[in-house]
Amino acid sequence: MNEYQVLEVPVRGMDCAECTVHVREAIAKLPGVESVEVWLASEKAVIRFDPTRVDLVAIRRAVESAGYSVPDLIAPLALQTKRFSRKLLTLLVIVFIGVLGIVIAGEWLGLFDTLNELIPLPIGVVLVLVGGFPLFHNVARAILKRQITSHTLMTVGAIAALVVGEWVPAAIVVVFMRVGDFVERFTTESARRAVKELIALAPQVARVERSGVEVEVPVAEVKVGETVIVRPGEKIPVDGEVVHGHATVDQATITGESVPVEVARGSSVFAATFVRLGSLRIKTLRVGADTTFGRIVKMVEEAEAHRSDVQRLADKFSAYYLPIVAGIAALSFLIGRNPLAAAAVLVVACSCSFALATPVAVLASIGASAKRGLLIKGGKYLEALAQASVVLVDKTGTLTLGRPQITDVISLNGMSSSELLALVASAERYSEHPLAEAIRTAARAQNLSLFEPEDFEALPGMGVRAKVNGILLAAGNRRLVPVPESLPIARQLEAQGKTLLFVALDGELAAVVAAEDTLRPEVPTALAELRALGLKHVELLTGDSERVAARLAEKLGIPYRASLLPEHKIQIVKEYQARGERVVMIGDGVNDAPALAQADVGIAMGAAGSDIAIEAAHIALMSGDWRLIPDVVRIARRTMGVIKLNIAFTAVYNLFGLMLAALGVLPLTLAAAAQSLPDLGILANSARLLHQK
Ligand code: ADP
Ligand code: MG
Repeated sequence: MNEYQVLEVPVRGMDCAECTVHVREAIAKLPGVESVEVWLASEKAVIRFDPTRVDLVAIRRAVESAGYSVPDLIAPLALQTKRFSRKLLTLLVIVFIGVLGIVIAGEWLGLFDTLNELIPLPIGVVLVLVGGFPLFHNVARAILKRQITSHTLMTVGAIAALVVGEWVPAAIVVVFMRVGDFVERFTTESARRAVKELIALAPQVARVERSGVEVEVPVAEVKVGETVIVRPGEKIPVDGEVVHGHATVDQATITGESVPVEVARGSSVFAATFVRLGSLRIKTLRVGADTTFGRIVKMVEEAEAHRSDVQRLADKFSAYYLPIVAGIAALSFLIGRNPLAAAAVLVVACSCSFALATPVAVLASIGASAKRGLLIKGGKYLEALAQASVVLVDKTGTLTLGRPQITDVISLNGMSSSELLALVASAERYSEHPLAEAIRTAARAQNLSLFEPEDFEALPGMGVRAKVNGILLAAGNRRLVPVPESLPIARQLEAQGKTLLFVALDGELAAVVAAEDTLRPEVPTALAELRALGLKHVELLTGDSERVAARLAEKLGIPYRASLLPEHKIQIVKEYQARGERVVMIGDGVNDAPALAQADVGIAMGAAGSDIAIEAAHIALMSGDWRLIPDVVRIARRTMGVIKLNIAFTAVYNLFGLMLAALGVLPLTLAAAAQSLPDLGILANSARLLHQK
């Protein structure tokens, strides 16, 4: 049996979607490699391979022979977060327009013709070959590997010009190939910027206590269970629990929330957040990639995998695009007998623009959102969200704060209410449900001592069952505990909007426990905004009882369905999907995970620290702030708008260029200059997404 090993290898030099394909193919060809995924944004390949048949040296060689490089694996990833400011972009556009002007003037005044006659052809040819050597070298290598890139066609164009004795246009093509290259690199690099800035926030060092002394170590060396010490102004290096001290912590990196939170003994804290005031001793629970921050970074990096339909279409199109361009050039040559016009066709339409149009916009949006505590797992979800028509929302923990308070414990069997509370709290000891948490808190407030439950069983959407102190206890809703229809106290409490929990001891109804949860204050405004955005159908789905749901739904002015089990929620999502609706499901992620996954877009609220929520959802809000919901809809629509504009612009531009060139109206020199403009347009257009308020 072969044991496969998975390795992440950084790859340098990839600057467009085509390149990831080349790298993937180069590695996949090696014997012993089972699967490869290549990520453009994070510049890495994830390889599953059989270490007995292939090793790193071979992988590295394969990557290098494809024309890319693998940096020293031992050294930590150097993070060069280049600053691409708007100023620089403006400057670039101005320089570009200036150069374009010079080329147009040169063409018009016949300067190029004069130059062509003035300097003998052989000298010109040498100039072109020397100046374009690195490009031709790459093209030759690509041809040997049977790859056709946009540079191949442009090189053919330049050679055609040389053949007919026009070395100046050939030289200008070469110059603009290099300019185009630069613009492309600049474009992908600036789209990656937000992602890189996020990665750069990862903590590097930690101060841990080892055998009574504080030592500073790289974060990767901290072990789970170790105590780390964090002082004011420092970054928390791990996910953990505060064991000593109190502090105000700025969690904006995770939640996007700029108001610092107070933490004290028992509080959970997250890696990559900052201690503003106070010092903390923290017991390490998770390190590195396992922390909430680590997961966010990983998901953002891998967001490229979830390609939108638009992007798939663009990818398919670019595969056919180059052959089509070559065909048009051939046709133009056969009909017009003008090699320079055919060369202009090859040159004008050849850029990475189609391949760049979508990923650049998506990367910019995802990166910028991640810094606001909004984790978006792929362009696919932005696309679905932009087209969504139905929004389904869970109640507990989603519309409400998810921190219910126990208000009443009503005994029905003569036991004292604290006795009952102790039994229920014991049964709920290991449940993650917010109601369980409320019960434990209430029991703690009364200093009740708890029992260790046996045969604990959590029934999602119903409640829990366990054996406590020899008694068979069930606590949950009417599905779990049969309740007589006429139980006045239940009606009375539910009329107050309280969630009820019925307790049965050895099968006999023994108590009613009431909990009250508060509506998140920003919900009504957020729902109104969603309606204004055209998402007219918002519906409440809850496992809570009819009466409680009705009351809340009425308050919010939305329809509802109550007493649902988690599988009913999935069913409802499917129902809407069958009617052709794009469904958004908003849940707290814990017991709604399956419905979130089923929806076209599953949005988890308050996902920080919850693995299940981050895994299951397509979009995760680290905080529970509902104002982000209409925001993310707007981001989705803006992103799709930018993508469509990118594609439309590139298509129209290239079409016109192609036509003019094929008709012999566009000279080769201008074709070369014009070719790099769409990339710049895409960059300028997509850069708008980097700056979200
Ligand atoms: P919602 O759909 O509002 O988020 P849930 O699906 O989480 O509600 O739960 C539905 C109902 O199931 C709760 O209102 C409660 O009555 C019951 N329930 C679920 N888990 C528990 C638990 N651990 N303890 C008691 N009751 C529970
Ligand atoms: Mg819930």
